[in-house]
Amino acid sequence: MAVTPDIESREPQLRHERAALLVVDMQHDFMPGGALAVPRADELFPMLNHYIAEFENGRALVCFSRDWHPPDHCSFRTAGGRWPVHCVAGTAGAELVHQVRVPKDAIIVSKGTERAREAYSAFEGTGLAHLLRQRGIAELWIAGVATEYCVRATVLDALQAGFDVTVLVDAVRAVEGSPGDGARALEEMLAAGAKAHSWARPRRSARRAAVILPASTDERPG
Ligand SMILES: [Zn+2]
Repeated sequence: MAVTPDIESREPQLRHERAALLVVDMQHDFMPGGALAVPRADELFPMLNHYIAEFENGRALVCFSRDWHPPDHCSFRTAGGRWPVHCVAGTAGAELVHQVRVPKDAIIVSKGTERAREAYSAFEGTGLAHLLRQRGIAELWIAGVATEYCVRATVLDALQAGFDVTVLVDAVRAVEGSPGDGARALEEMLAAGAKAHSWARPRRSARRAAVILPASTDERPG
């Protein structure tokens, strides 16, 4: 039943002065081996660095969100929540992965910072929408983890806030707690008005694409 998204396989056609890249939750605890691992999230490093360079080269804004929880956050099982303890503010697990380059002038927003409030979305309680509007940003290109949780919530909030949203489908990864969760979340985002973009078949770097392609398809079973 998967709907094939209308993926544009070309370099982003950025209106740089109005565009920003938002990388969601690329933190150690969400990587394989981490406290709340997203399978294969570490495969995203080269793709994310590619997109970051693209935006930087155009002097477009690059933003990162991070889960940044107090030690007794309500989402933790130890506090009656759903998830294992993860991304406690100031710990190594909460750090952005060093394999993904953070530009000097990047914006980093912290979410889920209040004990009693969960925040999957990078817009929730962060002031991000206001900050982006202040800078004249109208287009958001979104990547990161996890597709069906924080990426989904961030994309839907961004659309709600009136941004023109593109999901970088070759630079997201899902938890897949139930098989197909990632694909279903993507369908939901597209139905809500997001566009999908993939760098999987670029015109400019065929050799790099050949390396990246097998990992970049979102149409794997399950
Ligand atoms: Zn969290």
